[in-house]
Amino acid sequence: MHNSAALASTPLFHRNSSLLSRRDRVALSYDRAKAIGALHSLTADDILTVSPKYWEHLRDPIHVMDGAAATLLTIHLNLCIGTIAMFPEGKEDLLERLLAFELSGQYCLTEVGHGLDAYHLETTATLLPTGELEINTPNEAADKYMPPTTPAGLPGIAVVFARLLVDGQDRGIKPVLLVPLHNGHKMHPGITSKLLSPRGGSGPVDHALTYFRHVRVPGSSLLGSLEKGADLKGAFTHNIFRVVVGTLGMGIVALSGMRMASYIATKYSMRRIVVDSFTGKPKPIMAFSTQKIPVLTAISQTLVMDAFCTKLHHLGLTQEMQRKMERDAIAALYPKLESLLEKLAIADYVTAPIVSDEGWTSHIRELPAFHGDDAAVQSRL
Ligand SMILES: Cc1cc2nc3c(=O)[nH]c(=O)nc-3n(C[C@H](O)[C@H](O)[C@H](O)COP(=O)(O)OP(=O)(O)OC[C@H]3O[C@@H](n4cnc5c(N)ncnc54)[C@H](O)[C@@H]3O)c2cc1C
Repeated sequence: MHNSAALASTPLFHRNSSLLSRRDRVALSYDRAKAIGALHSLTADDILTVSPKYWEHLRDPIHVMDGAAATLLTIHLNLCIGTIAMFPEGKEDLLERLLAFELSGQYCLTEVGHGLDAYHLETTATLLPTGELEINTPNEAADKYMPPTTPAGLPGIAVVFARLLVDGQDRGIKPVLLVPLHNGHKMHPGITSKLLSPRGGSGPVDHALTYFRHVRVPGSSLLGSLEKGADLKGAFTHNIFRVVVGTLGMGIVALSGMRMASYIATKYSMRRIVVDSFTGKPKPIMAFSTQKIPVLTAISQTLVMDAFCTKLHHLGLTQEMQRKMERDAIAALYPKLESLLEKLAIADYVTAPIVSDEGWTSHIRELPAFHGDDAAVQSRL
């Protein structure tokens, strides 16, 4: 039993949000995120070291009751506080205010034009003669993508990843604190947040596009040093380490989703009675192999993965050990790629043109082409 069971049964979590406006649903998710955060009362050190308490918080099934609240919480705790906690000097007060949820923390890494190749992101942080830093978005491809930066009641701050420019020299991508992003109601001058349309199939979070027009922040906002360092890529990978923790963390949260889904399917299958067409007698659908096989498979996978997730934490794997395991596994499999493809036994059924040069060339030749001088395009569509 998790100690969030009492919170899970309060009106805050039992309120049916589906009839609320988007704004009210988002506000409700922020309230829920705050309540879950307050219950777990993690310290900056818990988050920084991914302590057992932090790991346990990820396993809390309450996250599944509101996916939007879970998303907000993971950005706030893991990405924002986790990154600031790597550079705590002079940031103690800010960390305390974030941990107390007086502020909402965001994390602006991804740009529209730079997702997984974030190393090539284009937002700049230029050191000015005054000692301040000027954050600027040079073009639309450099707009920050996804973090929920629109004002939603709680004052917001962000860790913004930007290319540090000092005297015209590129010193690599560094995290910079943007305090404030907004005051809960109004954006800070020079910062724009464009609310994206809600993602299908999930609780709405105020995901947004964010861009900066020559926004000045104190020099102390830089997390880390002004120096270029010998290994720019290594430093970047180190600075975005919380993304790795977040990726693992979201997997653990998803396990609670499996717990919830297998519980609901099992309880329903036990409760639902139909008449068996062979015997003419009422029977719970759980007695049919179409129910019991998937339901029991889901419960077993959930319990095994849950035990594995606890064990994983105790293994004390370092980043280097994980990298080595992955490298060894891939190095062993890669030479066998052709035979693995054969084992799939699917080639004769594949019509997708992208699998061969010939297929692609003939596919392109067959595509309908519309030229600028075509008079009757509509009739050919
Ligand atoms: C719910 C949600 C919340 C988010 N919140 C935030 C946030 O708070 N802050 C933030 O900064 N971002 C956030 N993001 C953005 C997210 O981190 C990006 O979606 C992610 O970095 C991937 O970028 P992309 O979608 O542009 O994919 P792309 O970069 O276009 O990659 C698409 C696919 O191409 C392949 N690929 C691309 N490049 C490589 C490569 N070099 N090697 C191997 N394969 C490759 C992979 O299969 C990859 O999945 C969020 C996204 C979601 C869905």
